Amino acid sequence: MMFIEVILPVPLSDTYTYSVPEEMQNSISPGCLVLVEFGKNKHYSGIIASIHQISPVSDFEIKPILAVESQSILRRPQLRFWEWLSQYYICKQGEVYKAVLPAGFRTESSSKYIQKKETFVNLTSLYLEEDNLSKAFDSLKRAPKQEKLLLAYLEYSQAFSSKDCKEISKKELLEKSGLNDTALNGLVEKGILSCYEKEISRLKTYFHELQPLNQLNPLQQQAYGEIVRSFREKDVCLLHGVTSSGKTEIYIHLINEVLKLNRQALFLLPEIALTSQITTRLMQVFGDKVGVYHSKISNNERVEIWNNLLNDDGYQIILGVRSSIFLPFRDLGLVIVDEEHETSYKQQDPAPRYHARNAAIVLANMHGAKTLLGSATPSLESFHNAQTGKYGYVNLEKRFEDTELPEITVVDIKELKRKKRMKGLFSPLLIEKMQLALNNNEQIILFQNRRGFAPMIYCKICDWMPKCKYCDVGLTYHKKYNQLICHYCGTTYGLPTVCPECGNEEIRERGFGTEKVEEEIKKLFPETKVARMDTDTTRKKDTFEDIISDFEKGKTQILIGTQMISKGLDFGNVSLVGILSADSMMNFPDFRAHERAYQLMAQVAGRAGRRQKRGEVILQTSHPEHLIIQSVLKNDYQTMYDAQMEERQLFRYPPLYRIIEITLKHKSEQLVENAAFALATDLKTVLSDRVLGPDKPVIGKIQMQHLRRIFLKIENSASLSTLRKILEEKKTALLNKPSFKYVVLQYDVDPV
Ligand code: ADP
Ligand code: ZN
Ligand code: ZN
Repeated sequence: MMFIEVILPVPLSDTYTYSVPEEMQNSISPGCLVLVEFGKNKHYSGIIASIHQISPVSDFEIKPILAVESQSILRRPQLRFWEWLSQYYICKQGEVYKAVLPAGFRTESSSKYIQKKETFVNLTSLYLEEDNLSKAFDSLKRAPKQEKLLLAYLEYSQAFSSKDCKEISKKELLEKSGLNDTALNGLVEKGILSCYEKEISRLKTYFHELQPLNQLNPLQQQAYGEIVRSFREKDVCLLHGVTSSGKTEIYIHLINEVLKLNRQALFLLPEIALTSQITTRLMQVFGDKVGVYHSKISNNERVEIWNNLLNDDGYQIILGVRSSIFLPFRDLGLVIVDEEHETSYKQQDPAPRYHARNAAIVLANMHGAKTLLGSATPSLESFHNAQTGKYGYVNLEKRFEDTELPEITVVDIKELKRKKRMKGLFSPLLIEKMQLALNNNEQIILFQNRRGFAPMIYCKICDWMPKCKYCDVGLTYHKKYNQLICHYCGTTYGLPTVCPECGNEEIRERGFGTEKVEEEIKKLFPETKVARMDTDTTRKKDTFEDIISDFEKGKTQILIGTQMISKGLDFGNVSLVGILSADSMMNFPDFRAHERAYQLMAQVAGRAGRRQKRGEVILQTSHPEHLIIQSVLKNDYQTMYDAQMEERQLFRYPPLYRIIEITLKHKSEQLVENAAFALATDLKTVLSDRVLGPDKPVIGKIQMQHLRRIFLKIENSASLSTLRKILEEKKTALLNKPSFKYVVLQYDVDPV
């Protein structure tokens, strides 16, 4: 008998055993998709993890697979990588499978992969003869629209003579000629043109001529050499290069070398917003060798990219966001993680809650590839690894063409507020500098790390604050919709005119978001074109790129945004950056708040004055002497790092300790409270003071589920497999108690 272990999108066990009927035995191998029955009358596609002859000892009947759906759609070492992911991030392989495989491959999804078809128009063979074609034109004298369409066809098919006519898309022909189906049908009936459907690829192709690589300047050349040397000894290298030092150019040179060896490169970016600028640059150099993978491409495109990579002559470079680490690479030689400090590399929900930077390093190892991490403001984790010698370290301190780093001026807004000299959200200095920049036809970026109008509203008399009834979290006021919105679940609420607690009519706003910045700016500079970039304005496909491209082209003068605008965008004409409130970032209740605040401020500051001209940054804060503000001011990463590391050591935080967050969820608050207490107590018997909590998280309720959280702070040197065993054991013990049977447990390893 032949048995297989199948990975199914069911989070109960890692794999499930099935038998293989005689007639299918020749067509299976690991990585094949098979159709199986699971439970009663439920059908799933699953992936074969392994094949064996061992009859399982089980009370359950072993069912045969129903069909083999496709040949192997995985490449080595993907299954091994899945296994690693599920073990490290404490989840089931089925959860990895669900996250990894494009929905188009899976039977439980309704959207199976559909081939894209398009109608094409071509000249029929008879009229390829020049003489016949002239006759055709003669015959069309009394059908001017058909004549016009035929001419348009010849023009757009770019034929010099009728012999090299080629097919063109019907849609394009009709659009460009401004004619309709009737004219086309006339020509088809006369047998002059033919129309037919064809399967086409959704993947974009690059038509322009390739550009040669830019020459690296001496400093870049030196950094390049140091990276190559470090790769001889170490698998990972951190490139710490100030904004605009030309890290992208160095990446391109490294990729070029890898391609010469016929190996592949993976270029990771934290966010889709960044892909368009870098896609353009990579395509100029590498053309069609580049495939782009991000969250806004369709399911069908995902399947096409996946299939493309299964071909041995598929893409050689993949540029993409975190999920591209799951693609079936043939032979990776290099992984680049740009802006490696970005938290969007971490997957929050659902499982696997992986960190793409860390997972990419593991993947690279499995391929025998090297990993380059790039950032102007490295994560403490990576910088620590560089300091201890685990990673190589290369520093690039000068901007390309020696443009100076921007001049930062700190403005004490507490003082100004006291003297009533603030104009709304703006200090007099910021307004003056903005006016100056606008007069010079230069552009401005304003940064406020909160969207919406006001983070909070409250009653002036009784301090009542509106909260989401599902999530126990304060609501944000959005003026445009005149609504209160929960940023966790999206539920909207009307704005109360009187306080529901005390009936008072004075409801006040506290704090401010990008929407309010926009409103005030429009009042201050009514003539100026302003754009706002945050998750509210960029929800639709392409709006992101539109906002960026309008700003690049100078159609907008002022760009207001959240952390979205801090990320690696390269604008030529921005002379001024305003950071409206540094304090709200530094006060965030998170042990990484100061590291983040430093990174965000240094990154947005880096958007100022990128080419030739020195930029200016106005940094508004109530705490001008704060160490973080001072480190930003002096571009002093090391001081920030040293101070932070002291705290991390003191409070046992990463990168010196590993954190695992256990979240328990249940509808009943009392029940989840009891369960969390029981689990924490049980864990403490083994792990003692490494266990913290249970606590009610800042947001104690999400979508009707009450939450409790247990933190584990574990020494880096501790064995993860032992720890996992302890966790599994205690979890089983908890869920075996009948009253806790329906409590949901989640793990987040290395949360960010
Ligand atoms: P970083 O990624 O370090 O912020 P970029 O790679 O975006 O910097 O480079 C900043 C700007 O300088 C870009 O417009 C880039 O095209 C230009 N640049 C950098 N290095 C070179 C080079 N060697 N030759 C030509 N242009 C360069
Ligand atoms: Zn009140
Ligand atoms: Zn909510």
